[in-house]
Amino acid sequence: MKSAHCPTFSVEFFPPRDEPDEAVLWRAIRELEPLDPAYMSITYGAGGSSRDGTIRNIARVATDTTLVPMAHLTAVNHSVAELRNVIGHFAAVGVHNILALRGDPPGDPMGEWVPHPQGLHYAEELVRLVRELGDFCVGVSAFPYGHPRSADLDTDTHYLVRKLRAGADFAIAQLFFEAEDFLRLRDRVAAAGCEALMLPGIMPLTTPRTLRKTIELSGATPPAWLVDRLAPLEDDPKAFRAEGLDVVTELCSRLLAEGVPELHFYTFNRSKATRELVERLGLRSPAPPLAVAARP
Ligand code: FAD
Repeated sequence: MKSAHCPTFSVEFFPPRDEPDEAVLWRAIRELEPLDPAYMSITYGAGGSSRDGTIRNIARVATDTTLVPMAHLTAVNHSVAELRNVIGHFAAVGVHNILALRGDPPGDPMGEWVPHPQGLHYAEELVRLVRELGDFCVGVSAFPYGHPRSADLDTDTHYLVRKLRAGADFAIAQLFFEAEDFLRLRDRVAAAGCEALMLPGIMPLTTPRTLRKTIELSGATPPAWLVDRLAPLEDDPKAFRAEGLDVVTELCSRLLAEGVPELHFYTFNRSKATRELVERLGLRSPAPPLAVAARP
């Protein structure tokens, strides 16, 4: 993973369902590549073709682009032997960054979690497995409002810190609404004596659908000020997008002012909103002067 002294950003995609989808994904990847994100990631689905899509496309990013690839990987429906196989494949194709996750039960995310009989119970074990298998940079997930299955924030922080100490280099936070929600998570981890890098996940709020998705994934109720700003614009796509991007720009500016070194954007396999935010926030690496660029 690139180290950055200036604030930077990373971008997240999901695996394509079919060929036209794959073309859309690759257009977005190519449009974001010149902005030099710290890394790009592709999420890992519940099974079958979606998993193949992650594995195939992340390998292509490693071989065909200048981007640093990070593969998401979950323990869902995988034996340890299969996980070893996938991790070994990532290393073989040049993917050395892995976001290690437990994943949710397929179908109903809040259904009973049943581990594979020869599999893993928690992300912490996957972090250890990835570390054991090679020289990987490992990330994990974190939840500003606590993971929905955690009894309370103290228990949530306890297990988050355990999985970071198991060998993770950083955590990416689930979506949230206010900078303070993320900063309090960062404080809880620091107060537990853990110095791992905490990065915020950011959804460009371009449509009512992206707002609904943010509410669903965050597991929290949006604050009244946000509803007041966006709800009246639900039937006016242009005005919603403009106000939504203003809201996100304000959130990101606050995070950067608090020393957050990198913002992780959910792209939904489109580049436009992320490009706009990167431009507004001044996150784009300046192009090197031509003489420097031409030097061997
Ligand atoms: P864990 O860290 O294992 O935690 C799960 C629950 O168990 C928590 O409540 C935790 O407190 C508790 N716990 C942890 N360890 C222990 C222990 N030793 N004993 C008792 N309790 C424990 N899902 C996908 O399917 N694919 C993806 O690509 C994907 N990408 C994601 C990216 C990000 C940035 C985020 C935030 C989430 C992502 N998810 C993805 C969703 C994630 O898989 C789910 O939220 C899942 O429910 C939790 O995964 P985890 O890795 O946080 O689990």
